[in-house]
Amino acid sequence: MHNNNGQGRPASPPRVLEALQWASSFFQKKGLETKAAKYLMQDLLQLESVAYHLHLREYLSDGQWEQYEAWVERHGEGEPVQYITGGAYFYGRRFSVNRSVLIPRQETEEMVELVIAKAKKRFQRPAIADIGTGSGAIAITLALEYPDSTVSALDVSFEALAIAKRNGEALGASSVAFMEGDLLAPLREEERQIDVIVANPPYIATREWRGLASLVRDHEPRKALDGGGDGLFFYRKLAEDIPYVLAADGLAFFEIGEMQGPAVALLMEQQLPGVDVDIVQDINGKDRFVVIER
Ligand code: SAM
Ligand code: GLN
Repeated sequence: MHNNNGQGRPASPPRVLEALQWASSFFQKKGLETKAAKYLMQDLLQLESVAYHLHLREYLSDGQWEQYEAWVERHGEGEPVQYITGGAYFYGRRFSVNRSVLIPRQETEEMVELVIAKAKKRFQRPAIADIGTGSGAIAITLALEYPDSTVSALDVSFEALAIAKRNGEALGASSVAFMEGDLLAPLREEERQIDVIVANPPYIATREWRGLASLVRDHEPRKALDGGGDGLFFYRKLAEDIPYVLAADGLAFFEIGEMQGPAVALLMEQQLPGVDVDIVQDINGKDRFVVIER
């Protein structure tokens, strides 16, 4: 029916495979990654990776084709796939996202793994706090993977908290407590002691801002990324309050920029004399996490 080798745009609803070929070559011409074609299709058909391969020869409906074309156009203009579909995968679960929240990253999945491995050795029923929760990815994943924990999720952004709450309900993490406020301040005010503090604060230095990929810089919330002049603004503020909030035998985990390890480690050592501080690499071998054991 269609003679489309990934070149022209099919005029009427094509088969899934032909739609993918068209979108891939469109993205390739624009210098975008071609796998976006597949991600958009999976979300359109609401299928997991395996199931979707069984549908490659089926025709899209008029409505599906119209939607897919529109999505492909938007990504072609530079909008991230996850904001187009409204969903991002983190630790195997689909989180709703919009422009008020950072799209959760793979490095952050690694941090969650690290938290679970270390915390389970030390605590039965820890109080955990995720500072700057965004979509809620860290807090909700920890609540689901560590059912005996009590998780609080904090953010300064009301809009982000609305998304995080929605994700908590949709994913069955109804026990997570959401709090609005500035970093650790709400916990300090309530004189809470937290066993495990986890934070992925904004850490991009102002001078790096222009060098960010347009996909990130022009679409994701600046409030979620901009860590001030040297990118360390939020670690300094976290370090000030952490002695009051972190339990006497507590753990803390911070995601960091690859050049920030020694500086963040030093900030924490100064505020928490005698603690163990470790700089941990991500799977790409870059310094990515600072881990504190009080
Ligand atoms: N935790 C999410 C993740 O890892 O995908 C989002 C991390 S994003 C890099 C940083 C988050 O910190 C954003 O959601 C932002 O709104 C929040 N944030 C920025 N300034 C804050 C502050 N002063 N207090 C609390 N949260 C803040
Ligand atoms: N990893 C993110 C990026 O490079 C930054 C996340 C952050 O500032 N915490 O886009």
